[in-house]
Amino acid sequence: MKNKITELAKQNGADVIGFAPAERFEKDSPIFQIMPETKTVIGLGFRILRGIYRGIEEGSTYYQYTTMAVENMEETVMPMAQLKIAMMLEEAGYIALPQRRHQQIMAEEDSTNPEVAYDAIRRGRTAETQIDFLDTAVKCGLGEKGFHGALLNEDHGPFIRYCFVLTDAEFEATEEYAPHICDGCGACRAACPGKAIDADGNIDPWQCAVYYNGANGTKNPFMPPDAFADLDNRLEIIAGEAKVTPETAKKILDNIYFYPPAQHAYQCSICGRACDTACYAHLEEKGVLKKKYKTPFRKREDWKFSLNDFK
Ligand code: SF4
Ligand code: SF4
Repeated sequence: MKNKITELAKQNGADVIGFAPAERFEKDSPIFQIMPETKTVIGLGFRILRGIYRGIEEGSTYYQYTTMAVENMEETVMPMAQLKIAMMLEEAGYIALPQRRHQQIMAEEDSTNPEVAYDAIRRGRTAETQIDFLDTAVKCGLGEKGFHGALLNEDHGPFIRYCFVLTDAEFEATEEYAPHICDGCGACRAACPGKAIDADGNIDPWQCAVYYNGANGTKNPFMPPDAFADLDNRLEIIAGEAKVTPETAKKILDNIYFYPPAQHAYQCSICGRACDTACYAHLEEKGVLKKKYKTPFRKREDWKFSLNDFK
């Protein structure tokens, strides 16, 4: 059965499959509130195409990341694999319950998800409604937690998204990673165009949302010279130096309309997840990623527009 599930997952786009026994989770984990009979959590990791990140890295194409690396993965590819695996388990007489991140629901009252429009999020839902996705991915052996909170996989580094299936079927456990990928180099933090990552690796969600959406004009080919004309600190914002609050972040985000959003409230990423691409380039250069490519991910020095273009 384990081999059959692994094969089916791979046929449906998963690159990494891990099995975490229920004992790896705390008794009060939301997993057991969602499905008390859970005996195994099946983790499914899907690599994001490296070429899609290269588009934003080069400044040549942006929309592909949002549609093909976020929207289509989250809304089509990943649920399809989850459903097929869940159906196979039910066919064999077990219970199966897919768990994918709901991008528009969060427990926090005043946080946000940079990947979707801030005003499309329903806040204040209790923590029980969603499992801890990163912790669960680590427990399933899909990767380790990197400094800036990304899951780092030994083949694909941070270029991976993930989801789960809960089941009452029991399987032999996948080993968890002994952390060996993140070396604390800080490249992820240094690469953020909006200084959203603090010295401890925590990401300020509002700071991230503003700059994920492209508020840094020196890294945004779509920003007009008079951007943010009504905001007093417009040059500070455009330089990536503005420290935002939830209120100021909303004002800035309301003034970012340089590029269309995708379906399902997904916002176009203009930063191109620079934190992740810097991490990937670093890990690849160090030779720690097992999946090799014919040419390096990073081919030239970072490019930037001048702040003078906006004065
Ligand atoms: S860039 Fe360096 S510090 Fe950041 S997650 Fe990757 S390896 Fe860790
Ligand atoms: S690089 Fe982009 S995704 Fe990463 S923390 Fe900064 S704004 Fe957020």
